[in-house]
Amino acid sequence: MKRIGLILITGLLAPAAAAGQNTTIEALVKQLADEIIGYRHQIHENPELGNREFETAALVASHLESLGIEIQTGAAHTGVVGILRGGRPGPVIAVRADMDALPVTEDTPFPFKSLVRTEYLGQNVGVMHACGHDIHTSVQMGVASILASMRDEIPGTIKFIFQPAEEGPPPGEEGGAELMVAEGVLANPRPVAVFGLHTFAEMAVGTVGYTSGPALAAVDHFRIDIKGKQAHGAAPHLSVDPVVMASQVIMALQTIRSRNLHPLQPSVITVGIVRGGTRFNIIPDEVYLEGTVRTYDPDVRDTIERRMAEILDGITRAGGGTFELDYERGTPATINNVALTEQMVPTLQRVFGEENVIELEPTMGGEDFAYFANEVPGFFFRLGMVAPGTTSGGHHTPTFLADDASVTHGMRAMATVLIDFMEQWVENAGR
Ligand SMILES: [Zn+2]
Ligand SMILES: [Zn+2]
Repeated sequence: MKRIGLILITGLLAPAAAAGQNTTIEALVKQLADEIIGYRHQIHENPELGNREFETAALVASHLESLGIEIQTGAAHTGVVGILRGGRPGPVIAVRADMDALPVTEDTPFPFKSLVRTEYLGQNVGVMHACGHDIHTSVQMGVASILASMRDEIPGTIKFIFQPAEEGPPPGEEGGAELMVAEGVLANPRPVAVFGLHTFAEMAVGTVGYTSGPALAAVDHFRIDIKGKQAHGAAPHLSVDPVVMASQVIMALQTIRSRNLHPLQPSVITVGIVRGGTRFNIIPDEVYLEGTVRTYDPDVRDTIERRMAEILDGITRAGGGTFELDYERGTPATINNVALTEQMVPTLQRVFGEENVIELEPTMGGEDFAYFANEVPGFFFRLGMVAPGTTSGGHHTPTFLADDASVTHGMRAMATVLIDFMEQWVENAGR
């Protein structure tokens, strides 16, 4: 009886309290929209690659300082961390946005489109926010504005993490969420939960998506050299042909998925680069392969790495050649905390309407938010971004088109999620 009573009381009180906050947040979103969308344009027009987010970080830092938020700059190279202490006692929570752009040449009709070019891996490339990190950064600047305005009523402390190099640091450098965690971003004070969002080019603006439990895959990177013996193209008997060995390897790698792993265990092995040879009538001495492996289950990951080596060994032995395999384990899988997801989905439903909150299948894409979510319970959701009547190219394409309205939707979503979480924490602690 007692438990039923408590549930009823919560059920009666929570919506009333929530309604008041909703009104405040909604008013602030409207009031801040022009300023924050202006930041979105500025960031979009001046994109910076991973570990080079100097101007973006400076903009974020000056915005947070103007709100009276304590900041730390230079986190994991160019990261900015802000701490906002609310006027009421409550939990410490963290919210993260990524700031880096990609080496993609923009082809959108935006008046604020990027014309920036830079040197990347020895090539001159265009730079573009082709994954929506300009939206994430500006949304989080807006959330900071909203929460700073409500500071006195906020129960707890919010750590704003503006992260560099989500797409991976340049070769030879460290960076991203992994480095931030190693540097202690989740210590002093340690958050009890971490939140993040990501635009999704397959969802309309005004919708949000979530996945409970496993949401994004672990991302590994492999490089293979297959070595043979060079010969005239007309004299294959004098060669050890690495092209033929590499062809067999590429096909055989797909049998790991189909023959060695449980059919219901997700995994992907993709060879993205095949490079070898100089002339049509020369059998080269070497072929280079490079690609990615995506998994969720650590045992599946182990099996793939082991079977890749065994297949390479068997095929190159049979062909008379040798191989070198460099298998690099990258970002772990992003697993949304199930209880936290169940707790926050009703908030999203209240803000957007039940019909606009979509449960999504896990994807084989990756996210380095995983490093945060492996340390403390995490909830990472997706933000619709496609305006009615427009189409967006996919993530990482020149025609990736995120609508300005996703900024304000992101602000109301994240601000409400954070405040609801803190209020519910305090409510539960008082019981
Ligand atoms: Zn991306
Ligand atoms: Zn991204």
